[in-house]
Amino acid sequence: MSELRKDPVSRRWVIFSPDRAHRPVDVKPKAEENMQEDIKNCPFCEGKEKTSGAEILAYDKVLGRKPNTPGWWVRVLENKYPALESRETLEKTAEGIYDWMNDLGRHEIIVETPNHFIQLPELTEEEIEKVLLSFKERYYNIKNNPHIEYILIFKNYGKEAGASLQHSHSQLIATPVVPNRIKEEIKNSHEYYTFRDRCIFCDIVTQELSSKKRIIEENQDFVSFVFYAGRFPYETWILPKEHASNFEDTSIEKIRSLSEILKKTLSKIQKALNDTPYNLVFHTLPVKMKDKEYYHWHIEIMPKTTRVAGFEWGSGFYINPILPEDAAKILNSME
Ligand SMILES: [Zn+2]
Ligand SMILES: [Zn+2]
Ligand SMILES: [Zn+2]
Repeated sequence: MSELRKDPVSRRWVIFSPDRAHRPVDVKPKAEENMQEDIKNCPFCEGKEKTSGAEILAYDKVLGRKPNTPGWWVRVLENKYPALESRETLEKTAEGIYDWMNDLGRHEIIVETPNHFIQLPELTEEEIEKVLLSFKERYYNIKNNPHIEYILIFKNYGKEAGASLQHSHSQLIATPVVPNRIKEEIKNSHEYYTFRDRCIFCDIVTQELSSKKRIIEENQDFVSFVFYAGRFPYETWILPKEHASNFEDTSIEKIRSLSEILKKTLSKIQKALNDTPYNLVFHTLPVKMKDKEYYHWHIEIMPKTTRVAGFEWGSGFYINPILPEDAAKILNSME
């Protein structure tokens, strides 16, 4: 059982989840003997369907497949050690100046492939497309819950990025409050819109496409580039070229080109940085907001080549040792 507490100074909610301390961990260096050991214990491998969390959704490879059996492309599971739980009632209370909430939400795992040895960028574009479609489908389903305010889809790859299992997977956490990072992006992009009458993200896309200094990949619908003021070395963003505020409304055709650019961008990063751990997050509008002219959904990819240390924690400033223009050159030499 978890709970949410609000920091009255920063106004940030913190999820306290003592049960998650007991979840299994298998992320070790990629030695052959470790791999064999991992597969034995991996709950996400094909054939282990009964040992994983309950299946919520699957895209079947085999016609007439029954839930929790082999023969799938992508499987969405209940997290066995959820940070937040499916509950009917949202409880809110205060203890003096402190605000408190129960742990209503969702925590799901998207197993991206039945194969233990393949990571996301190594999947085919068609396979990645299925992963992205499962995000969309779960998003639409969960947003019907009136207590849910935000759905964050993210991926932790590698131990330093927070992954506890090696088998390629993403996660979805739905929260009863809008996270501060999102609130901040919405507030700032709204202010920019009020002042300039344009979407700040559209302006960023236009400028990146014309300067070409930081572009990593581009196709008909999307562009990826090393972010001008990235907090981390090689911090890369992917944005739709045409204004769109809600990821879940992305058409099938665009999901196809998103899978292409995601594969190519991640492949360059993984090649250049020697399979480094990374975090990837989807930033989209909160579920109860729709079609805003000032907000533009995007993906942020943050390779973990440096550690966040005292100065960063203490100040909110980041020290990035590589200029984004140089990082882009290095990534683009990885064809
Ligand atoms: Zn596995
Ligand atoms: Zn825009
Ligand atoms: Zn963002």
